[in-house]
Amino acid sequence: MDMFLTANSVPKENYEGGVALGFPLVFAPPPAYRRNPVTQQTIEPSFKLARFTCPSCNQLSDQAWFNTYANAIQNAEGVPLRIQGADLERLYHNPQFPPEVREQKLEYWTRVNNGEVFLDRWAPIHSDTFVAGLEVSACHACMKAAIWFGGEMVYPQQDNKE
Ligand SMILES: [Zn+2]
Repeated sequence: MDMFLTANSVPKENYEGGVALGFPLVFAPPPAYRRNPVTQQTIEPSFKLARFTCPSCNQLSDQAWFNTYANAIQNAEGVPLRIQGADLERLYHNPQFPPEVREQKLEYWTRVNNGEVFLDRWAPIHSDTFVAGLEVSACHACMKAAIWFGGEMVYPQQDNKE
């Protein structure tokens, strides 16, 4: 499995039990939204709209908006968790998890390690720490997320943005 050995890996042996399952978040769009016709108008993504042309799939789609809450990181290191390189390889071969779960974990960490931001289903948390000024929109067509700071979309980055 050479492909997992490239990223520089760092700490920790014992975080595997705390790793999220990486199941995709599904917020159940109506089937009609899944395949829009190709010929359609373009509506620039906007903080003030619940329907615009998705920056990820370029379909004119309904968008679900999310507030964000902060959840304190409470692992031993007290820093955000990343699993890369040899650690990811070890996780992928951990017999504690069934093969399909290992595949999900590999896919999850590969996406995270590649800088992707996405919505994912983890264990429920309780937090009253609201992140003011940061919102997330998610496209009903492709399920991909966009991140908004101060009402401006900052992710995904737009190539054609001046
Ligand atoms: Zn989309």
